Amino acid sequence: MSLGANLGNREETLREAVKRLAAEDGVELCAVSPLYETEPWGKTDQPRFLNIAVSLRTTLSPEALLELAQTVENDLGRVRHEHWGARTIDIDIVHIEGVERNTPTLTLPHPYMLERAFVLVPMAEIAPGLVVKGKTIEAWKIIAGNEGVTRVAPSFIW
Ligand code: ATP
Ligand code: CA
Ligand code: CA
Repeated sequence: MSLGANLGNREETLREAVKRLAAEDGVELCAVSPLYETEPWGKTDQPRFLNIAVSLRTTLSPEALLELAQTVENDLGRVRHEHWGARTIDIDIVHIEGVERNTPTLTLPHPYMLERAFVLVPMAEIAPGLVVKGKTIEAWKIIAGNEGVTRVAPSFIW
């Protein structure tokens, strides 16, 4: 999953989101990437984001996982304003191995993941060899570049 925050105490919100996802029955946290600060994408006149990638194993269906992600977003005070606008927390499912979806509420793999450095750079830290649409995450990351994506030190410790 890809998590981002650009309002409020961004790091604390991300940490709390990871904790809540990991606490759910049927969800096992496998890896959390280092923390990255990133330039806003799509709608650029807003504060910078902090982003992380998280990998987990789950017995939840993709739809139930999306519901969980949205519950955590809502519980952490996300208010939906405009598309791609500022938010306290955004939790996207970028990829689930072996799963494709094309419904009004869920698209997998995430339609923009392969063109977003803020998704690919953190993801390459925890799943460089994962193959999506014929290439590894490491290869997609090199294609996307890392402009506007800076590792934060000290890094995310959850
Ligand atoms: P983007 O999806 O381009 O990153 P966003 O994260 O700003 O944009 P949101 O407003 O958070 O978009 O979500 C809009 C809707 O996207 C959600 O209600 C959800 O149903 C849908 N959606 C479709 N595919 C996914 C996915 N893979 N992960 C998360 N949400 C998804
Ligand atoms: Ca998003
Ligand atoms: Ca989202």
